[in-house]
Amino acid sequence: MSDMQDNGHHHDHDHAHGHRHPFQPDLEDGDYSYYQVMTEAVIELLVGKKVITAEELRSTIEVIDSKSPVFGARLIARAWVDPAFKARMLEDVISAAGELGIDAGAIPIRAVENTTAVHNVIVCTLCSCYPRSLIGLPPDWYKARAYRSRVVREPRAVLKEFGTQIPVDVEVRVHDSTADLRYMVLPARPSGTGDLDEEALADLVTRDCMIGTALPKSA
Ligand code: FE
Repeated sequence: MSDMQDNGHHHDHDHAHGHRHPFQPDLEDGDYSYYQVMTEAVIELLVGKKVITAEELRSTIEVIDSKSPVFGARLIARAWVDPAFKARMLEDVISAAGELGIDAGAIPIRAVENTTAVHNVIVCTLCSCYPRSLIGLPPDWYKARAYRSRVVREPRAVLKEFGTQIPVDVEVRVHDSTADLRYMVLPARPSGTGDLDEEALADLVTRDCMIGTALPKSA
């Protein structure tokens, strides 16, 4: 570790291609946290005792990393064009995803629908619970204490900082995800999208629209 740190401090040098760039610490430069040490220890034990193989661990991480908001966006677009599908999605997200050939995992996910009366936002106040199977890995700010604490206390102010202004006559509801139940926002279909097909509609649905910090906009 100390070697790495010494090297790091001398990293701000000219590269052969001629430009300087700011020092970027290596992942290993900081001290290992308690949880990093515990994680490494548990991995070592599980692999050492042949409960899982290193290859199984690697491929599982690869699958998790391959999840993207594209899956959630496909569900939203289908819900926009097919009211019966929307009803089934509000009933059971995982089975609705299955209809589109999307594996949403086993942990229950509830879709919360934005209407003219209610705007929904999701958070995990405790850590970072998130419907990863449909939106991918959460952004860093979702895991930050500032977002987790403030969005509960002053959701409108936080949304405004994201550039999302919710009219005062629309109720803002914050949903706290847990390890057993994750939420995703089902945004309202933007006006002016009547002539778009399902694929084009899906392109309007970004990650933040499904967190509730943004609204889909017609292009
Ligand atoms: Fe969490």
